[in-house]
Amino acid sequence: MNQQTLSMRLERVAAHVPTGAGLADIGSDHGYLPVALMRRGVIAMAVAGEVALTPFHAAERTVRENDMTPWISVRLANGLAAIKPEDEITAISLCGMGGETIRDILDSGKARLSGQERLILQPNGGEQPLRQWLMEQGYRILCEEVLRENRFDYEIIVAERAEPVTYTAEELYFGPLQLQARSPAFVAKWQRILRLKQQTLSHFARAQQAVPEEKMQDIARHVQWITELLA
Ligand code: SAM
Repeated sequence: MNQQTLSMRLERVAAHVPTGAGLADIGSDHGYLPVALMRRGVIAMAVAGEVALTPFHAAERTVRENDMTPWISVRLANGLAAIKPEDEITAISLCGMGGETIRDILDSGKARLSGQERLILQPNGGEQPLRQWLMEQGYRILCEEVLRENRFDYEIIVAERAEPVTYTAEELYFGPLQLQARSPAFVAKWQRILRLKQQTLSHFARAQQAVPEEKMQDIARHVQWITELLA
């Protein structure tokens, strides 16, 4: 993967960035996503935010080597602190982090959101709490994808502020749009998770030490939901 050839995961994220966007890619690491989108003429400008020094320097190098310095600002900052009001950001990508981390970055940086930005989120797990936050903050999920690459299942969630929407517990767990579309990648992902959860339940049943009742009930409820989904 590099700034020309993105991974399939980042390629699918890129597909949700609107043409002409001012993109803030938070947790940009090597900066491949904003540089690829700028090279293709998709975005007008970008901010690549990084909290850690090594990836920050990597992003600086990618931007410099591609002569993108006038259009892509690389900033060492925690979360949305990388965004300045004068940037006029219209899309924010947060990819390759846990869903809870993405939620916490959005929540602690709320003051920097105008409410007009498209959020393009690619959580590695923790999708349910992230969707819960989106719902509570008045975001509507516009698009969702599941894809598999290098033996990992990835989810992409695209959201924008809209009229308040209420998702059910199952919709928050599986994704409201994925639940309707039931793509082959989505079904395969949940078949794998069902097997893992059933194994966990049988390990718990044989465990020497007591497993907290609440934890058992949580897993049992999810096993029931997934079984119904796949039926
Ligand atoms: N977004 C890239 C991708 O999807 O390929 C890189 C993902 S990498 C696994 C996660 C990056 O997020 C790391 O470089 C890490 O330093 C950065 N990161 C984690 N927490 C952050 C925060 N609060 N603010 C900015 N960057 C953060």
